[in-house]
Amino acid sequence: MKAIRIHEFGGPEVLRYEEVSDPALRQDRVLVRIKACALNHLDLWVRRGLPGVKLPHILGSDIAGEIAAVGDCVTGFEPRQRVLLAPMHFCNRCAKCTAGLQNQCPEFTVLGNLVGGGNCELIAVPPEIVIPIPDGLEFTQAASVPLVFLTAWHMLVTRAGIRQGQTVLVLAGSSGVGSAAIQIAKLFHARVITTAGDSGKLERAAALGADYGIDHYQQKISQEVRKITDKQGVDIVFEHVGAATWEESMKSLKPGGTIVTCGATTGPNAAFDLRFLYARQLSFLGSYMGTMADLYEVLSHVFAARLKPVIDRTFALQETRAAHEYLEKSQMFGKIVLTL
Ligand SMILES: [Zn+2]
Repeated sequence: MKAIRIHEFGGPEVLRYEEVSDPALRQDRVLVRIKACALNHLDLWVRRGLPGVKLPHILGSDIAGEIAAVGDCVTGFEPRQRVLLAPMHFCNRCAKCTAGLQNQCPEFTVLGNLVGGGNCELIAVPPEIVIPIPDGLEFTQAASVPLVFLTAWHMLVTRAGIRQGQTVLVLAGSSGVGSAAIQIAKLFHARVITTAGDSGKLERAAALGADYGIDHYQQKISQEVRKITDKQGVDIVFEHVGAATWEESMKSLKPGGTIVTCGATTGPNAAFDLRFLYARQLSFLGSYMGTMADLYEVLSHVFAARLKPVIDRTFALQETRAAHEYLEKSQMFGKIVLTL
């Protein structure tokens, strides 16, 4: 099959389009012919070099396609079925997995991180991560959903316990995870304030349901939040930006408020005054991906069109390098998807 592989860590130039052997279909696996694979910032981190990644390596976490073959020991699936893959690897046997906490499994990793991903034509996977999709959902749409919607759902619903009528600040609403978070917060009838780097992106965020927009290059986030909320602050800050925004995120919270974070795109080191944390009774929550239950729950809303995939543009698999360069420029609104 054709695949994009990296043989060394580095810039977009290390992505090689080449012929590799087809994956073997074990009796307990499902072989999926990949039709679309969405990009995530994780692809950039892995390409630049993360501990534990074995070379050569195939990137790509968000996969949709058609079942090509079904192992003899697998029931419930048929060739040609349209599916997406839960973007994760877990053992499915340990105490965490059997409690439904797959993202706390010792073996947990994201597809395309410590295990091979979807920047290729075929992938053999265990049946527990194979999820049929409705006919009306295109492969590019299906591929653009799993990682960001799962991450945003786990953050807002499972970790932060969002409730109707709360006010939520979603940082970088133009990102994949931000555009998912805006929609999920609106599903809970929250009031949503978002930030973006230009007026065009703020308009698109408003179209997704954001009630207020802050230009994070032109305006100070916490000051604008104070104005919008009549000096109250927000209940939840949806963080994934990291060092560049952490202080503003803290200052934007109302007493008793919660920051939930899944990333540190601008850097991992944030300092804060412990007195501010305890005196204002704040909660700082970490979140990483989500569980299979979270995924099924959020997908039920996607399949019913209450949550919508947001695609910026598509590239052919051969153009993966150009797609990485485009992602690194942060010009997009929503997801970048590779097609096969
Ligand atoms: Zn496990």
